[in-house]
Amino acid sequence: MKKNLAILGSTGSIGTQALDVVAANPDIFEIEVLTAQNNADLLIEQAAKFRPNVVVISNEALYDKVFSALDPLDIKVYAGEKSLASVVQMESVHIVLTALVGYAGLIPTIAAIKAGKHIALANKETLVVAGELVTELADKNRVHILPVDSEHSAIFQCLVGEFHNPIEKIILTASGGPFLGKDRDFLKTVSKQQALKHPNWSMGAKITIDSASLMNKGLEVIEAKWLFGLTTEQIEVVVHPQSIIHSMVQFEDGSIKAQMGLPDMRVPIQFALAYPVRLKSDFPRFDFTKYPSLTFQQPDIQTFRNLGFAFDALNKGGNMACIVNAANEIAVASFLRDEIGFLEMSDLIEDCMNKVSFVKTPTLEDYIKTDEETRRIAMEFSC
Ligand code: NAD
Ligand code: MG
Repeated sequence: MKKNLAILGSTGSIGTQALDVVAANPDIFEIEVLTAQNNADLLIEQAAKFRPNVVVISNEALYDKVFSALDPLDIKVYAGEKSLASVVQMESVHIVLTALVGYAGLIPTIAAIKAGKHIALANKETLVVAGELVTELADKNRVHILPVDSEHSAIFQCLVGEFHNPIEKIILTASGGPFLGKDRDFLKTVSKQQALKHPNWSMGAKITIDSASLMNKGLEVIEAKWLFGLTTEQIEVVVHPQSIIHSMVQFEDGSIKAQMGLPDMRVPIQFALAYPVRLKSDFPRFDFTKYPSLTFQQPDIQTFRNLGFAFDALNKGGNMACIVNAANEIAVASFLRDEIGFLEMSDLIEDCMNKVSFVKTPTLEDYIKTDEETRRIAMEFSC
């Protein structure tokens, strides 16, 4: 039987690479749902090629354009963010790939889990905002959350065949981003053009800035806690600029397993979608002789404060990671509009962590309120 996919955020970096995987494996995958926020042209092009049942364009102003292009092809068109939570529940959908960016992933992911759909999770923000609630819900509904993020896919791949063996710790690798080794004086004046140039990966704007500020690694620490049921002490971050080892697991006998390969998101995307099968691929292969040295160093959390904030948020618990996430979304958007400097992104996050109301055992409503309150306070931040 084919696996029917709903891809939320199909026009983005992960979404388009997922469609490459689907196009290469037409006997295995079928597209049921495609969604995008603003890129109507690409959404229409993708729908004409993959013939989903349904598409959603979140920006309602673009509904007429998408409808007039796809109605003649017998493809249903919905508009608005609320539609995402409905379409993921369709009976014909088996797996929901959450390839949309930011907090917007939370509500559709919860709806999909409640409807019993397996999740291929790229949208790490969902687990950062409400990891405890989402993973509990997945357990209750017997739904798999299969990681797409390359580090978490690496850990998951190391754990296959080891699920009965306790993890001593995981070692999350970080490329260090474009500003590895730079000091605060340098970072004070960096432009968004410099920050948007990642050395190893080509990704959407938000995650590229997060990688430059080490917030991405911070979000991944929180994501790993919830995916693999770890304590903060069991998560170590090590900088590995070549991005060949995608992460590692150390077991209780001291043995370490690593998953390796060239940096290519199609590998973890395909692994999550095809799990438990490994599909043949023609992706470029790694050649050890071209990488005579793989190097490792400590992350500099004095300079890149965001990584420290993520550990602080985990230690504090409650809604603190939700606060960090919302503050970071505003900080990145403001940096991309040239309204604040690179280092001020961390100042803004710290300000929100100090000011937003703390809730020890949040419900979904509390997370929604926290997100709103944080965005309001973040918008008032002045440097
Ligand atoms: P992107 O910006 O390239 O694409 C985002 C997609 O989501 C687009 O299709 C866009 O139309 C849609 N979208 C954006 N905002 C939306 C909203 N408010 N409501 C509905 N749809 C919306 O982003 P990306 O780089 O593909 O990243 C997607 C997710 O995957 C992020 O959570 C990111 O952290 C995660 N991720 C990405 C990579 C990567 O290599 N790009 C790697 C690991 C994890
Ligand atoms: Mg990653």
